[in-house]
Amino acid sequence: MPGRQSSSAATVLRAVLEHGPVARSTVARLSGMSAAAVTRQYAGLAGLGLVTETGRLARGGLGHPHIPVDIDVENHVVAGIHIAHAQCTVAVLDLRGRIRAQVSVPHVSTEPLALLHHVAQQLRAFLGSQVPLGLGVAIGGWVDPDEGVVVEHASLGWHDVPVGDLLARHTGLPVRVDSHTRALVRAEQLFGEVRSAESVVHLFVGNVVDAAIVTGGVTHRGPRSAAGDIAHLPFGDLACGRGHSGCFEVTVSDRAWGERAGTSIRDVLASGRAGDRAARALMAERARIVGQAAALLFDVINPEVLVVTELGVLTFPECLSALRSEVAERSTVCADPGRSVLASSFSGDTVLGVAAGAVQLDAIYSDPLAVPVFGLT
Ligand SMILES: [Zn+2]
Repeated sequence: MPGRQSSSAATVLRAVLEHGPVARSTVARLSGMSAAAVTRQYAGLAGLGLVTETGRLARGGLGHPHIPVDIDVENHVVAGIHIAHAQCTVAVLDLRGRIRAQVSVPHVSTEPLALLHHVAQQLRAFLGSQVPLGLGVAIGGWVDPDEGVVVEHASLGWHDVPVGDLLARHTGLPVRVDSHTRALVRAEQLFGEVRSAESVVHLFVGNVVDAAIVTGGVTHRGPRSAAGDIAHLPFGDLACGRGHSGCFEVTVSDRAWGERAGTSIRDVLASGRAGDRAARALMAERARIVGQAAALLFDVINPEVLVVTELGVLTFPECLSALRSEVAERSTVCADPGRSVLASSFSGDTVLGVAAGAVQLDAIYSDPLAVPVFGLT
């Protein structure tokens, strides 16, 4: 657990993230800390290369409390690996959670040792001489972040894979692993639109479908962090891998939706972007089904905000409308879906890389004084 100094440092860093560029005196006012305490914490954070003064030194000289300070986005980066059904997304992010560069690495095998060894090699090549502060790994399914273990990932067929240990050994970096849906809800809290919401449900629909639940500002994980599996909510009439009929994931997954169109979901999306009405109608149809699950989750959990990460909703306004009207029709507690049902703050092109990087950025913003010294440049 972070100590008191560390939690004061985290408070200052979070205030600079949220309000920067911002004067130290304003940080003191916002955080309720003394100006001297903020100046001390700022100095420690600046020494680690996490914050910096911005703009010209108009008056007062170095260290003047009214010179705005901000997150240092030039000095450090974090690395991220998102592991999907058919490929990994390898990304480098700045400390504001923005993608600097990313690349897609198709799986050479779904066997975990071979896959992780390969993607670690690709990451090293991608990084070149950059030394990131750490590596975040995001993946769907059941993930135990305390152990860095992927407990179960149905579409990859993984059980109890020690992803954190394996990638730490291959990369030499500090590694954190979490489910991509929890990672994205953290990214929303740090860098997105729902920073101040105390209760949030995040619904992720890709090849894996899962949810993250935040109450009192904290993500609920439960024993072994198994919370959030909504793959087998009953929907439609397709049989799933467990022999049920009509489960949510098997009905709306990227693969299922691609098969409906006789192609891949990315092709459907590309056709829709090019103006193909049938493709856009197909995506709106998926958004409607996702809306049915969203309405159900909304009534079970009653969050301030429900966020959806799904390619159609992230790309086409009519998909977001279809999602919201389904929630409006079915939910008894959601009074205003226009305000409380939102698309992810991150675009379809960046969302997987952001999820991965956020796993490591969460560690830095939670306990900045634990930033590894070897990462200093
Ligand atoms: Zn099922």
